Amino acid sequence: MQALVLDQSVQPPLMSVQDIPIPELGPHDVLVKVAAAGVCYHDILAAGGILRRGISPNVVLGHELAGYVEAVGDLVTKFTPGQKVASILTEACGECDRCRSGREHRCRHGKGIGHAINGGFAEYTKIMETSLILVPDGISMTAASLLGCPIGVGVQAMLDVAKIEMGETVLITGAGGGLGTHLIQIGKAVGARVMAVTSSPEKMAKLEDLGADDILLMEDIDFSEIARALTGDEGVDVVIDCVGPTVFQSCVSSLNQFGRMVILGDVTGGEIVFRPAEILFRDAQISGSSGTSLRNLERAGSLVSSGAVSAVISEELSLDQWSLAYDHMTARESFGRVCLIP
Ligand SMILES: [Zn+2]
Ligand SMILES: [Zn+2]
Repeated sequence: MQALVLDQSVQPPLMSVQDIPIPELGPHDVLVKVAAAGVCYHDILAAGGILRRGISPNVVLGHELAGYVEAVGDLVTKFTPGQKVASILTEACGECDRCRSGREHRCRHGKGIGHAINGGFAEYTKIMETSLILVPDGISMTAASLLGCPIGVGVQAMLDVAKIEMGETVLITGAGGGLGTHLIQIGKAVGARVMAVTSSPEKMAKLEDLGADDILLMEDIDFSEIARALTGDEGVDVVIDCVGPTVFQSCVSSLNQFGRMVILGDVTGGEIVFRPAEILFRDAQISGSSGTSLRNLERAGSLVSSGAVSAVISEELSLDQWSLAYDHMTARESFGRVCLIP
């Protein structure tokens, strides 16, 4: 089968389409014929050697995938050939305490798909049945490839961690990226007022089309000042940060009393200056969130099949066009997700 193999993690990455064997199935494995695989910033960081921990040499990247069941292992009970499936980001054992309490994304024996084990940038991949769901009817396979990440990841951060409620105000950084474009829609689906922060003037109209109530362009003025001005100097109830340390202070300054901030992405890396008193006197909370549980993957499927959230796909490319995906994403030219079609 054809697979996009990470030959060397350098900048720009050395990747090549190679003919490698179709994976052999263990008793609980499902062989998935990949229909589409989203390119995440995680893949960009891994390919470029910025993210190295836990990444297997010569791995096939891609943790955002949907496809058709081609074959199943002897003990698989949930799936049969021909069905459409989507996965969470981690292969979970299904048996440990975390899996049994609905936190499969942090399975004690979990292996990152397209990270520790081969992922979706290939014609076929194998994943244990404990990490898959059926794709609801009426969803395209490219849209289904984004159900886990970014849509399920966004559902988990916004609904489980931030616990956003109707009528609250939520500010989203990196709003034009693969995560942000879906976070805006999830926020609107629960009836929140959404402020979208972007550094790209050309993305402003598209963010409005997605339903953002206020578009904040990162220019000379600190976006926290605009956020405060738009809320009668109160600040926002929730910040979902997809960018990282470069905007940390502005995120904290945007929070109102009892505000909640969720760190969902760190594309810039680096360190921050942290002033505990700013959190203390706001009675604020700062949380991290990563990955999606099976339950939130299902919720993502419901949001997309009901039309409340639409997958935002900027382009569909073949495996051997990977370098275009890399270039467009690192230049922040893509709006939403780039998908590879093996
Ligand atoms: Zn992802
Ligand atoms: Zn487990």
